[in-house]
Amino acid sequence: MQTLNANQVDSTIMEEAGKIIRAGGLVAFPTETVYGLGGDALNPESSKKIYAAKGRPSDNPLIVHISKWESMALICTDIPKEAELLAKTFWPGPLTMIVNKSDSVPYETTGGLDTVAIRMPDHAVALAFIEAAGGYIAAPSANTSGKPSPTLARHVRDDMNGRIEMILDGGEVGIGVESTIVDLTGGTPTILRPGYITKEMLLRVLDEVDSDVTLMRCDTNQAPKAPGMKYRHYAPKGALTLVEGEPDEVVNVVNQKIAEAKERGEKTGILCTDETFAQMKADVVKSAGSREDEHEIARRLYRILREFDEEGVTVIYSESFSREGFGQAVMNRLLKAAGYTVIRE
Ligand code: AMP
Ligand code: MG
Repeated sequence: MQTLNANQVDSTIMEEAGKIIRAGGLVAFPTETVYGLGGDALNPESSKKIYAAKGRPSDNPLIVHISKWESMALICTDIPKEAELLAKTFWPGPLTMIVNKSDSVPYETTGGLDTVAIRMPDHAVALAFIEAAGGYIAAPSANTSGKPSPTLARHVRDDMNGRIEMILDGGEVGIGVESTIVDLTGGTPTILRPGYITKEMLLRVLDEVDSDVTLMRCDTNQAPKAPGMKYRHYAPKGALTLVEGEPDEVVNVVNQKIAEAKERGEKTGILCTDETFAQMKADVVKSAGSREDEHEIARRLYRILREFDEEGVTVIYSESFSREGFGQAVMNRLLKAAGYTVIRE
């Protein structure tokens, strides 16, 4: 497996990567959200390889990445007018749209669904790679299923070593959590996964937007709309618990829980913010950034969760963040990573 430096577009490298995809192989590549694990979206064998490399359940569909609007025509049966409006405003960018699929898209790529998720990433290397590979790249995040998504090429190497043909190393990603997913296949457009593009941003373009009720909780009888929503995601190896409440209270509770865990012989970790860092006491204390800057927190989140693993931390307590705006995307990932284990003060 080759790791190639791809901080900028190099036509020789893109050609090589494109060749691998056309031959049915897999290439990991940087996007503005997280690293993707790419294969030819129109080749069922490639999609099967993606599931195998990730150890991902085959009913959890992949996202098809395109590099130009015209590519939509081949892969969906009808293009909803909302898709056109959203693409004009947010593409290339961290927004995935779900539409009805055409016969060109194999069921292996959509996890057996008649709908397909499509996105145009806002990253020069990703766009050049998609183009060089024939225009349609199926790509989930390039992590082993269940683990935090990769925000550095090193994370991809740790998870995928020997399982894929190539990694394009574009340095650290900019956003750090996966794209917003919006379903356009029935009635009101519905957010299935929160991301950088918030509901408020979508409402500047669309009259109505719903959020799926299962986004922030697990205590619901409703079946999740996006198949991927039912699986454990983003989780570090250590047992992660979130603590919600006033900052002072949170510091007290976290320190107390950590002291108890230490007594049991656990290696302890705390995920906190710059504001609370000095007061937190554990074997490994990591700040995700200032409370004021949720974009910084998002960018660092997965890297920190992986660092706890690397340092052998077995019990982790984390502060909680605002659930408003982009904060909702951060909390959605943290809640899943914690298996919805939350202490409310
Ligand atoms: P990943 O970004 O690796 O988590 O993979 C893509 C996610 O997109 C899946 O886990 C699903 O939640 C979602 N997704 C992809 N295709 C569809 C679809 N056709 N319908 C609903 N959700 C989808
Ligand atoms: Mg993923």
